[in-house]
Amino acid sequence: MLVLTLFPKTVLVCEIKCVPLVVRPSPIHAVGVYTTTPIRKGARVVEYGGPRITPEEADRRYDGSARTYLYGLEDGKTVIDGEGLGAYLNHSCDPNCEVDEIKGRVWLFALRDIAAGEELVWDYNLYDDEEPAPCHCGSPKCRGTMYSREWMAKMRRREARKNKESEKTKNGKGTTSSRANSDGMGRSA
Ligand SMILES: [Zn+2]
Repeated sequence: MLVLTLFPKTVLVCEIKCVPLVVRPSPIHAVGVYTTTPIRKGARVVEYGGPRITPEEADRRYDGSARTYLYGLEDGKTVIDGEGLGAYLNHSCDPNCEVDEIKGRVWLFALRDIAAGEELVWDYNLYDDEEPAPCHCGSPKCRGTMYSREWMAKMRRREARKNKESEKTKNGKGTTSSRANSDGMGRSA
């Protein structure tokens, strides 16, 4: 068992075929994940791994946190508390990777051919939070936020309703920690 602890966690995360990835400073946010070899469109790149927790536990742990690595599974009852390389990919509104859930596990796949040296990015499509999540991806397609279009539309509708009901209701409601998911923009299949 001592041997296992000598390996970086990320080695253990990649159980299938691993694309060689490195973590380097990123112009998008702090550090990013880069590929050192070309990746073919459709290839499985890395798992979004981590312990499974409930949405309630996620809120308890991360409510108010500026940055989390949570990923909500399709069952609506499970959240991955991301760790390892897969969780460190930055968001972009013009992504080269997309996530897909297969039998309860989440993987990042290449949306297009990716050249060696490119930063790997995917569209977080954040939801379930009201804290600002500005995007600095720098893409001409940037929508200015890491939230999904669907969530933003929902927030705008909610805001409109709130304004209609006017100032008599003070908002004392707590917020929840945002999670990424695979719905909405960024999905091509
Ligand atoms: Zn953007």
